[in-house]
Amino acid sequence: MNPLPKGIGWIEVICGPMFSGKTEELIRRLKRAEIARQKVQIFKPRIDQRYAEAHVVSHSEQKLPSAPIDRAEEILERLDPAAQVVGVDEVQFLGPGAVRVCEQLADRGLRVIVAGLDQDYRGVPFEPMPQLLAVAEFVTKELAVCVVCGNPAHRSQRLAQGEQRVLVGARGSYEARCRACFRPEGDAPTARAAAEPAQPGLPLREEP
Ligand code: ADP
Ligand code: MG
Ligand code: ZN
Repeated sequence: MNPLPKGIGWIEVICGPMFSGKTEELIRRLKRAEIARQKVQIFKPRIDQRYAEAHVVSHSEQKLPSAPIDRAEEILERLDPAAQVVGVDEVQFLGPGAVRVCEQLADRGLRVIVAGLDQDYRGVPFEPMPQLLAVAEFVTKELAVCVVCGNPAHRSQRLAQGEQRVLVGARGSYEARCRACFRPEGDAPTARAAAEPAQPGLPLREEP
């Protein structure tokens, strides 16, 4: 990343598919801000209850305490006046209001770091990530490893049956796939992934 600006706020977006390390990268940046003795506040949508309501947790089991919210505007309402850095995980679940909230925070001089899925299980851009990517100063696209062929993976393959729009699934419900191995209509799990024990997974949702 470029050297960080001084004396102004800005927006950083970390995007990519499931298992690409978005949450790990968010936690890394927030921990470094804490080491720099900056006041950090972390939020995540309540819908993501895979592991712990009050923590942001990665698939590799790193975690940081976070406040669960139902609406993007709650970030403004619950903002600590002393906060200098605001982190949000799973920002794609906060809807279009997240863009205005992030802009307001950055305009006030805060560093805003958000992580989220940039595509849904069909490979369609996940609103409001396209808008957030457009207004951010810094954009990082993480890639996972395709569990079928080992190539860099930018899609989240849905494995479970069913048409429901929100599927809070387990590992075994989704896996990382590259462009060539991705099947938008759904697919059976790869043999290796199917042999792994089920673990809490991540919900993929289209806009409400
Ligand atoms: P995200 O927030 O993007 O879903 P996490 O930060 O929670 O990702 O987890 C990333 C970690 O997931 C990796 O460091 C690795 O340990 C693990 N992992 C499991 N499956 C894969 C995969 N197919 N590709 C890359 N990492 C994977
Ligand atoms: Mg994550
Ligand atoms: Zn592949």
